[in-house]
Amino acid sequence: MALHSLRGFRDLLPPDSARFTAIEAAAREVFALYGYQELRIPTLELKELFVKSTGETTDIVEKEMYAFTDGGGREVAMRPEGTPGVVRAYIEQNLSQSGRNGKFYYIGNMFRAERPQAGRFREFEQIGAEYIGNASPYADAESITMLVRLIEKAGLPGCSVELNSLGCAECRKTYRQALLAYLQGCAEKLCEPCRGRIERNPLRALDCKIDGPWLAGSAPKLTLCPDCAEHFARTQELLRISGIQHNVNPGLVRGLDYYTRTVFEVRSSALGSQDAVCGGGRYDDLVKSMGGPAAPAIGWALGVDRLAMLLKDRPAADGSPKAFVVAAAKEAGQKAYELLTALRAAGLSADFSSFDLSLKSQMRSADKSGAAFALIIGEDELKAGTCAVKPLKQPGEQKIVPITEVTALLTTLAAG
Ligand SMILES: [Zn+2]
Ligand SMILES: [Zn+2]
Repeated sequence: MALHSLRGFRDLLPPDSARFTAIEAAAREVFALYGYQELRIPTLELKELFVKSTGETTDIVEKEMYAFTDGGGREVAMRPEGTPGVVRAYIEQNLSQSGRNGKFYYIGNMFRAERPQAGRFREFEQIGAEYIGNASPYADAESITMLVRLIEKAGLPGCSVELNSLGCAECRKTYRQALLAYLQGCAEKLCEPCRGRIERNPLRALDCKIDGPWLAGSAPKLTLCPDCAEHFARTQELLRISGIQHNVNPGLVRGLDYYTRTVFEVRSSALGSQDAVCGGGRYDDLVKSMGGPAAPAIGWALGVDRLAMLLKDRPAADGSPKAFVVAAAKEAGQKAYELLTALRAAGLSADFSSFDLSLKSQMRSADKSGAAFALIIGEDELKAGTCAVKPLKQPGEQKIVPITEVTALLTTLAAG
């Protein structure tokens, strides 16, 4: 049997791979504008990290983790998201003492053993940003603004933000009781997973795909404490100053246990649907609960696969070479190879197929490559020290040029 990729895993081929690269490049540019620096975290971590941070009762940890026992008997997991690793690194590497600003971004693949479905893979790419150590609404506004600017820079216009506040541990304590009492009163209406976890985490029911919608109308609402209310109002005011369109959505919960205060999702009017492009939130208690310093934080993660899919109608970057070198006679192969070398040394992209193939076959490859010019060296050119320059994309006559002048000519043509 032929070898094949695992179900839910895919090969990313050109030109799709170029779309991913373009999104990453846009992200790096925007991160630099906002003072964020890259943090590269491991793909594999102790399973316990995700259980403790992402949360025992989340879908990710309950159903979707790629966890296994390694050869040394350790319980490990492929990272399902980036935040736990960043927080672990922040604590382990003592980054709060580094004198840096606490702004980190990551770009990397995540793993979730979800049921494979259209557009969803078990290995997928996320770009994420974490701002650790700033509790003020300025950090919220900056993080959200940066996300919107990044998505726009990547090519998706018309972004707006859905915003909610989940309050702090203090305001949630009373709310948790009220919600639990309410859910216990209508437990028979809840789906099975929700019923099973109302004691442990009643808030998760609000985020359930089945129960969330009807609970949104009837369940008791969270009342923010004065501090949280002020933080939320100020965040909105600062978003107005940043020119970010936003809308308060009390139904927005987000499925992770560690969120506090501000949570948000970005939507684009260019989508036609109301689905979120990505989202994030504040996690003021996570670093401390993981054994680190009291460091309030805010962050978000963007699914690159999803954004690339939304941008699929835009032309991807043209990966065609400028020139395609052809040897029309076997003995011209070495000269042709020298020309390739000279072109690349001059910064001109160039390619070839096989100098041993027929002229017709090499010209067919030249056309397919999308190159602007074919550079052909045959017996005559080899003797005369010249090269035939044939335009492939635009009409024009083939020209015979001294081989020493080809690079200069192409540089001029490339500039023009
Ligand atoms: Zn509060
Ligand atoms: Zn449910």
